[in-house]
Amino acid sequence: MATTLATHTIDALVEHLGPTLGGRVRRDEPLAQYTTFRIGGPADAFVDVTTADELADAVLAARALHVPYFVLGLGANILVGDRGFRGVVIHNVARRHTFGDDGRLWTESGAVMQDLILEAVERGWSGLEHYIGIPSTVGGAIWQNLHFLSPAPERERTMFIAEVFERCDILSEENVRKTVGPDYVQFGYDDTVFHHRRDIVLTVTFRLERGDPDVMNRILHENLAWRGARHPWLQIHPSAGSIFKKIEGVGAGRLIDQAGLKGHRHGGAQISPMHANIIVNRAGTATARDVRELIAIAQRAVEEKFGQRLEPEIGMIGEF
Ligand SMILES: Cc1cc2nc3c(=O)[nH]c(=O)nc-3n(C[C@H](O)[C@H](O)[C@H](O)COP(=O)(O)OP(=O)(O)OC[C@H]3O[C@@H](n4cnc5c(N)ncnc54)[C@H](O)[C@@H]3O)c2cc1C
Repeated sequence: MATTLATHTIDALVEHLGPTLGGRVRRDEPLAQYTTFRIGGPADAFVDVTTADELADAVLAARALHVPYFVLGLGANILVGDRGFRGVVIHNVARRHTFGDDGRLWTESGAVMQDLILEAVERGWSGLEHYIGIPSTVGGAIWQNLHFLSPAPERERTMFIAEVFERCDILSEENVRKTVGPDYVQFGYDDTVFHHRRDIVLTVTFRLERGDPDVMNRILHENLAWRGARHPWLQIHPSAGSIFKKIEGVGAGRLIDQAGLKGHRHGGAQISPMHANIIVNRAGTATARDVRELIAIAQRAVEEKFGQRLEPEIGMIGEF
């Protein structure tokens, strides 16, 4: 049975955060609305942080009081359990950013990639436009090295956000604020140092190049059209994007499809008939349990047919 964080612990957190930030703490906040899956029970405590300093302060307070915490961006790569999260969810809406004349874009980590992309294209700066249509904050994008397999013949390859990354300010696991570069971040495929250390990304500096607005606008349209034709639309079918990691370069969707599970339903969850590596929440009726069970069904089927174990790539957050 889920036990919630003691009231006095949340009171202590509120006091520690002070009148401005502490006054913003909400209790028993349902999390489904903050995830693209539209699934998940309540957080004991929930706070919006609107600047990078507030993000650092909230994390430091949680650490000082030994309160479990989770830094939430757009919630596009997670499944939150039906019983929610025992601790404080720190919702990163720190979105200030500035474009320099030299192509440097400095941004707080809660900025939404889509907003930055449109502004960059408008200003004639190229490098971010490939990632249009992928729901992500800057923090989430760095956390996992956001990537996209470009469909156009002249640039048919996987592009990574690491390619435009210059440096970032972090709050380290040891509570030190410092600036780090790519050597520290160790960008890999769906991997960075932040999967292995509890550092928090506070701000990021990207390095963009001058681009032709017509070409960039064409890329925006092409990439959105490509996605629209192959992936279920998030606005109609809530999801967390790809559920499983690739196995030795082979997409998990192909294996699930060949195991005969494309379109398979379990409760309110369904393996998308459009893309077998995406599980969708049908008409908002799926529970986290439905999704977890459907994940297990897919794992069993693929293991039986191909002898290979699918590993989820999404984060499982809270209590199920
Ligand atoms: C329809 C759909 C399509 C997608 N397509 C793609 C795709 O083409 N390519 C791709 O790479 N991904 C894709 N994804 C996955 C998702 O968009 C990315 O993983 C994205 O980067 C998640 O960002 P977020 O802000 O939502 O992070 P969240 O889901 O909120 O968090 C993810 C993880 O990042 C951590 N985190 C967030 N912010 C910070 C921070 N400031 N400091 C430290 N850690 C932090 C969180 O604690 C959590 O562990 C897709 C998802 C959906 C729903």
